[in-house]
Amino acid sequence: MNGPDLRDVVAAKRDGRTLTPDEVEGFVLAYARDDVPDYLASAFLMACFIQGLDAGETVALTRAMVASGRTIPLEGVSRPTVDKHSTGGVADGVTLVFAPLAASLGLAVAKLSGRGLGHTGGTLDKLEAIPGLRTDLSVERFERQVEEIGCAVAAQTSDLVPADGKLYALRDATATVPSIPLIASSVMSKKLAVGTDLILLDVKAGSGAFMKTPEEAAGLAESCASLAQDYGRTCRVAVTDMSQPLGSAIGNALDVVEAVELLRGKDRGRLREASLVFATEAQVRLLGLSESEARTRAEWAIDGDDALESFRRMVQAQDGDPRVADEPGAVLPAAPIQRPVAAREGGHLRSVDAEALGRASTDLGAGRKRKGDPVDPSVGIVFRPKLGDLVEPGQELGVVHARTEDDADVATATVLAALSWSADPVEPPPLVYGWFGG
Ligand code: URA
Repeated sequence: MNGPDLRDVVAAKRDGRTLTPDEVEGFVLAYARDDVPDYLASAFLMACFIQGLDAGETVALTRAMVASGRTIPLEGVSRPTVDKHSTGGVADGVTLVFAPLAASLGLAVAKLSGRGLGHTGGTLDKLEAIPGLRTDLSVERFERQVEEIGCAVAAQTSDLVPADGKLYALRDATATVPSIPLIASSVMSKKLAVGTDLILLDVKAGSGAFMKTPEEAAGLAESCASLAQDYGRTCRVAVTDMSQPLGSAIGNALDVVEAVELLRGKDRGRLREASLVFATEAQVRLLGLSESEARTRAEWAIDGDDALESFRRMVQAQDGDPRVADEPGAVLPAAPIQRPVAAREGGHLRSVDAEALGRASTDLGAGRKRKGDPVDPSVGIVFRPKLGDLVEPGQELGVVHARTEDDADVATATVLAALSWSADPVEPPPLVYGWFGG
């Protein structure tokens, strides 16, 4: 290894010293160039995880990650641009709805997405359930589509924030994911590398999220907002509820079906509400509308044909079968076994272990246990009740979509074990706990 001995940087962090921006940058850029072995980078991450990073170190880490690759300034896009990102949840198909919805409202959504990891779903996996649809767009094609259609959802290219790609994979393998400064710099480096006028972040809190409480999620929200501020970027961060699946579909094709139903104006649940909340915020910030004007426009776009038409155009532009917007059931793959799940007990739904439902869907084949594993687009779980709902014993709660009867048995048992019931009424949690940033 040339230059300074980077073991000294690891030792300094191990001993609780605040690192200088040069030390952080030197380490991260050397790792991105393959000049640091994984074992030393793992020690660095663990030292950061245990000792924490202060605001200055977090900024330095973020800057180093952005500087490790190319950026996408979006100079060729004439409409106001917005990126929307969720920290990861269960049945969280907001992007599938938000992107075409915002496009139909005169905005341009430039969204580089990730794949599902652990129990959380990923937008790319959901979109790729649509036959033919490609997410590996070149930067030029991505920008052109954002300009022409108003939205594009593509895979992050390997030359954009490559240091995060490497560090995230290492964090996943070394139990160093759930650290606020490491998550904030990882999420924000990818957002800051794309030059949108507005960054919207959805930081999830609850049993299906990395952050289990609204208080922890608020810490992450504040850290992300302050990184955006340091870059002079407009960023609004909502802390939202993930103590239960957001929508009903936990899978890939199943999520697309749910998104299409919603874009056809047929859904009135929390997934629609979350999509409207972000579409309203985007219009308030970028078009200068009042909150009530913005909300009304967004509702019209969903209840009329505009948002669905944008979805159809986005799918077609990315080589997918556009008939998915009209007849999703006829176009999307279906699992051979579809097993209804009936409630064993009755009462008001008191709690749902959303992470357990996410894991059950992963175990059915909808997610991956290791990076690079294939996913089965057809399998997953539809789970309909929401916290506070009154359910009768024997009532259908949803449907397990599985490859085999054995898989369906295991998933059904997991779903039922993930629920608790109350004889007394249960107050449903709010959807949005609070907003951060400006
Ligand atoms: N999502 C990211 O992009 N990075 C993290 O560290 C966690 C969630």
